Order: sequence, then structure tokens, then C-alpha cells
Amino acid sequence: MIQHVQDTIMLNNGVAMPGLGLGVFKVGDGSPVVAAIKSALRAGYRAIDTAAVYGNEDGVGQALRETDIPREEIFVTSKVWNADQGYDATLKAFDASLERLGLSYLDLYLIHWPVAGKYVETWRALTDLYKEGRVRAIGVSNFHVHHLKDILDASDVIPAVNQVECHPLLNQKEIRDFCQMNNIVLEAWSPLMKGNLNLPVLEELAKTYQKTPAQIVLRWHLQHGVVIIPKSVHDHRIKENAQIFDFSLSSADMDAIDALNEGKRFGPDPDNFDF
Ligand code: NDP
Repeated sequence: MIQHVQDTIMLNNGVAMPGLGLGVFKVGDGSPVVAAIKSALRAGYRAIDTAAVYGNEDGVGQALRETDIPREEIFVTSKVWNADQGYDATLKAFDASLERLGLSYLDLYLIHWPVAGKYVETWRALTDLYKEGRVRAIGVSNFHVHHLKDILDASDVIPAVNQVECHPLLNQKEIRDFCQMNNIVLEAWSPLMKGNLNLPVLEELAKTYQKTPAQIVLRWHLQHGVVIIPKSVHDHRIKENAQIFDFSLSSADMDAIDALNEGKRFGPDPDNFDF
């Protein structure tokens, strides 16, 4: 488990990935995303999670150019969008993302959603980009166990990461266990339930530990070994979300948060999406 804001976990190919990053979904391109990333870097974050479909890769690139922190100290993730899946289209989409970001390589490139009939070919494109050294690690997002099995059957490269919706109301234990068994790191999107944090158990624990409900939830993820990418555009919350290394949840309190699971999604089910 990571102990410090800049600690990393080792991916299955030996690459070190920060256990905490900033998510930038729905953060406007240009000054909003530049400001959020600058706040995050000041607070010690060293990872950014974007995607082609977020429409803010230009701004992410601008923030990376404007900081004094060297490129190789910041872990940049992007994702291939659904309309660009398939072998050739994925290669083109990767080039376009790099160009918008103004980067010569990515740290992590993910298949954004498991588009039926396409994701195995998309994965083949990612493995070629990886073998060419254009991306340091490759992975998937929104993959159920059966989607992961398709990739494991079809390819000799195991995804390094599976980024899925994961939080106390959808704790993804089955996927977490499968990923752990197969040496795939689980990364939580919407780790804060999109800000819907007003659950009595969380409010009670926040009082006990003198932390905020957001910090309680983020600490719970960390203690489960899950990588987190909370999103905020507010400097004080970006800081707050990184101040989770000075306390530890007891195993009884971990269990109490585990018990909140009700399979509730704030986003679409990967077995049933139409975009
Ligand atoms: P989060 O669970 O990170 O929640 C973000 C919301 O919570 C925002 O409304 C934010 O508001 C609010 N918030 C942030 N910090 C706090 C706090 N300390 N206290 C109270 N409220 C807070 O949701 P996201 O859906 O953005 O998920 C995080 C990241 O995951 C995304 O940004 C993206 O990078 C990735 N993602 C990936 C998906 C995929 O398909 N692979 C799908 C969805 C997300 P404010 O900004 O106003 O502070």
C-alpha cells in the first residue's frame, strides 16, 4: 500500500505508477484544466488521467509544458475512444492524442470501453504501440471479468491496469480479486461517487478520524490497494484529497465501508452501453 503522495505501485511490466492521480473528466480545456493540474502538482500529485473524449488533452499538454517538473516525473494516462477502436483507427487515435498532448510518449494508454467485436483488435494495436516503445504500459477500462478473459486468451500481453467505476456503493470485489490474481492493477474511476458523499457511515467515520468523508473514502481505496484518480477543480479539495497519508482505518471500519456495497452505478454498465 502506498504511504506517501508520490509513492508508486509496480505494474506487471516493472513500470512504477503513482497510486494517486488527478482525474480531469469534465474539466474544461485551456485554463480550467491547466489550473487544476498546477494545483495538483503543487499538492504533490505526479499522475494525470485524461482521455481523447474529454476534449482537454491540449490543456493537459500545456500544463505539462508550463511546469518545471520534468516530463519523466509525471505519469500521463490517456484512452482510445470507442469510435476509434479497431487496429488501424487505434494507431491513428494514439498519434492524435500524443500530438494534442505535445508528448513523445505516454505512460499508460487504455481501451476506454470494451466495444463489442472490436476490443481484441484494439488491444493488438496497443500491444504493438507498447512493443515499439511509444507507451510505457497498456491497459483497459470498464472491463468485466469476461472481457478480461477474452484479452488474456487472445494475447501474450496482460493488461497492466483495469480502470473501472469503483467506490463504497460499488466495491467491485469480484473484479478486484480477479485482477489481483492476474497481476492487473485496479484503478478506481469516480472514486468519490461523483461527490455523493453524504452517507451516514462515512459522516460518522469522518468525525471519528477528524477527516472529511472524501478522505475516508480515498483512504479506504488505498487500503484495498486500489489506485485512485479523484477529480476536482478546486485547489482546496485537490489538496484535501491528497491528505490521506496521516491516518489509517481500522479493519472494523474497513468492513463497515465494505458493507455499503449495493452494486450502485453512477455510470453505465460495461455490458450495456450504447456509445
Ligand atoms: P469523482 O468520484 O472523482 O468525483 C468528482 C466530483 O466530486 C466532482 O463533482 C468534485 O467537485 C467532487 N469532489 C472532489 N473532491 C471532493 C471533496 N474532497 N469533497 C467533496 N466533493 C469533492 O468523479 P469522476 O467521475 O470525475 O472520476 C474521477 C476520474 O476518473 C475522472 O475525472 C476521470 O479521469 C476518470 N473517469 C474514467 C472513466 C472511464 O470510463 N474510464 C469514467 C469516469 C471517470 P469539484 O470539481 O467541484 O471539486
